[in-house]
Amino acid sequence: MRNRMIAGNWKMNETYTEGVVLAQGLAKELADGTGDVDVVVCPPAVDLKGVAEVIEQENAPFALGAQNVYWEESGAFTGETAPNMLTNIGATYCIIGHSERRGYFGETDEDINKKAKALMAHGIVPISCCGEPLEVREAGKHVEFVVDQIKKDTEGLEITDPSKFVVAYEPIWAIGTGKTATADDAQEVCGAIRKTLADIFGKETADGIRVLYGGSAKPNNVAGFLEKEDVDGALVGGASLKADSFAAMVKAA
Ligand code: PGA
Repeated sequence: MRNRMIAGNWKMNETYTEGVVLAQGLAKELADGTGDVDVVVCPPAVDLKGVAEVIEQENAPFALGAQNVYWEESGAFTGETAPNMLTNIGATYCIIGHSERRGYFGETDEDINKKAKALMAHGIVPISCCGEPLEVREAGKHVEFVVDQIKKDTEGLEITDPSKFVVAYEPIWAIGTGKTATADDAQEVCGAIRKTLADIFGKETADGIRVLYGGSAKPNNVAGFLEKEDVDGALVGGASLKADSFAAMVKAA
């Protein structure tokens, strides 16, 4: 009932020129289609238009996502990107609340909640990230930490179509470190996330929301995560920067 999803977060990698080449390579790798797997590519903001053009020209089987957004429509917000600017160039997804944005740029749960509302008002699907730092995990408080983030980040949202809201659980200690959570670790938290979503939005809605795992997900480990009941896909950083390894993850899903 939930299509699996593999989303690539390029982070601050690939110039416009390189991004076009990477998107073309991915279009070639996925030329036979992706089956029931929804694939999303999230390049840096300046690459979005170029990747949108590749998707159109190659009729590529992946959707375009941004990595960040601001919640106002327009105005004096130097350096920011408005949701309507994303829809205008064909982006249909947007990552929000990534731990790098929370950690390096001071984003709060309140900001993330505003971003989710602004995106949904424009028909863009949020990929809303959550996850605990190492000290919280070591203290055994990871489930309550993430549940608290989910409650704050989704406060007041109206989810009419559960396929249009995505959550990504990314334990911070596993991001870019080569250290993955075990599939059981991922299931423990993803299951708690779904239960929290059910408490807030009802079971039927929660059952339709994709919950992804992220953190050193790779072609050789993604299948193990996907075997778990509440893990519906992956948000992939490093391994999304090579067309063949990202395509291998799509195929493994
Ligand atoms: P990683 O990043 O796959 O390179 O660990 C995941 C993410 O931060 O989305």
